[in-house]
Amino acid sequence: KDALNLPKEEIKELKKDINKKAKEEKNLGGYIEQFLDTDLAELGDGVPIAIKDNINVKGWEITCASKILKGYKAPYNATVIDKMLENGLSAYGRCNMDEFAMGSSTETSQYGKTLNPHNPNRVPGGSSGGSAAVVGANLAIAALGSDTGGSIRQPAAFCGVVGMKPTYGRVSRYGLVAFSSSLDQIGPITQNVEDAAILYNIIAGYDKNDSTSARIENKPIVINGDRKLKIAVIDNYIDEADNEIKNALLDLIKALEKEGHTIIHKNLMNSKIDVATYYVVATAEASSNLARFDGMRYGNRIEGKDLKETYKLTRSQFGDEVKRRIMLGTFVLSSGYYDAYYIKAQKVRHIIKNEFDKLFAEADVIITPVTPTTAFEFGSKKDPLEMYLSDIYTISVNLAGVPAISLPIAKDKENMPIGMQIIAKHFDEQSLFDAAKIVE
Ligand code: GLN
Repeated sequence: KDALNLPKEEIKELKKDINKKAKEEKNLGGYIEQFLDTDLAELGDGVPIAIKDNINVKGWEITCASKILKGYKAPYNATVIDKMLENGLSAYGRCNMDEFAMGSSTETSQYGKTLNPHNPNRVPGGSSGGSAAVVGANLAIAALGSDTGGSIRQPAAFCGVVGMKPTYGRVSRYGLVAFSSSLDQIGPITQNVEDAAILYNIIAGYDKNDSTSARIENKPIVINGDRKLKIAVIDNYIDEADNEIKNALLDLIKALEKEGHTIIHKNLMNSKIDVATYYVVATAEASSNLARFDGMRYGNRIEGKDLKETYKLTRSQFGDEVKRRIMLGTFVLSSGYYDAYYIKAQKVRHIIKNEFDKLFAEADVIITPVTPTTAFEFGSKKDPLEMYLSDIYTISVNLAGVPAISLPIAKDKENMPIGMQIIAKHFDEQSLFDAAKIVE
C-alpha cells in the first residue's frame, strides 16, 4: 500500500527488484528504453517512476513512439519531472505509447507491441499503453501518462490499474509534447488510489511556464473515505456497455446505495456526438502542433535534393494514423470548411460542458463505465472509426475539462479487468479521490 511513501533505505532494494523483474519480463514491451543496471542515481535517487515517452526528461531520448523523433534528446525537464525530483521521486524508463498519443491500443507505436499484462493476445489500451502495462505487471510502482481523450483512463482500465486525469490546467503541460493543447493533461497511473493521490499532489499546481496553467488554490489532497456522496449514475452510458461491464457497475452502484450514498439516475447526450466533436477539435489542434516536425529543429531529418523534398521525406516518417489526423485537421481548418466543422465543434463542446455543469449542480460525482468492452485482441480493430469508439465514455471529460479517474472494480469471465470511471467538477479533485477511495 502507498508504496510511494517508501523510506530511503528500501528504495535501493526496490530498484533492484524492478530491474530484475523487468529483465525477466522483456516480452511485455512496456518500455521503449529501460535504464537497467545503469546508475539510477544520476536520474535522481528516489522511488523510480516510469515515464510516457512524450514527457521531456533532460538528456533522455524522447520519441513519442515516432521514427521522426528518433535520436532527439530532451533539452530540459518537463515541470512534472522537476516536481518529482524535488519530492524524492526519480524518472525511470521510457514507456511505449501510440505514436504521438494517437490511438487506443498502443498499436500505432513505431517501436513495437506492448502486451496486456493479463493476457498476451490482448492490447494494453492506449495511448499510454506502456505506462499502464508496466504498472499492471508490477514493473513499476507508478507511471506518468498523458490523457487527451482517454489515454490514461482507458489503458488503466484494460490493465487493471488506477489512472487519473486532472482538471484541465491543474497540471503543467510544460515539457509534454503537445497533441491537442486544449485537451492534453498529464496524470498518474498507479497500483492504488492512495498512490494516485500522492503522485497527483506532487505534480499538480500553477506553473508560470504554461500559459494555460490555472492560478487557483491547490490544496493537497488528504483522502477522506468516510463521506456520504451524491452520485449521478449515467444510465444511457451503462446500458450501452457490454453485459459484464454493465452488471459489475450495477452491482457496485447497489452496494454504494446500501452504504448510504445517494444515487440519482441521469442521462448524457449520445456519446457518438462527443466522439465526432473530439475528432474535429483534436485533429485541428494536432495538425497545427505537428507542423513543427519538419526535420529542421527536431529529430530524424531525411535530406532531399531541395527543401521541399527534405520536408516531404522527413514527414513521410509519420505513421498512417498520424498522417490521417494531420489531413483531417488540415481539412477542418481550411477556408470554406472552418465554419461547418471547426466552429460547429466548438459550439457542441460548449454544450457538453454545460451538460456536466448541470449534473454537478445536483451531484458530487458522476459514475460511468470507462470503456464499452474489456481489452480487445491485437489487430481486431482495423477500421479507424471502430477504434475511435473505444473512447466513447472518456472523451467528453476532456472536452469539458473536468477531472476523472479510472479504477478496477471486477474481472470478466476471461479474467480481464473491468474499470469504472468517476468524474468530478472542475478543480474538485478532492471529491474525485474521496469517491475513488470509497469504491476501491
Ligand atoms: N484514443 C484517443 C485518440 O486516439 C485519445 C488519445 C489520447 O488521449 N491521447 O485520439
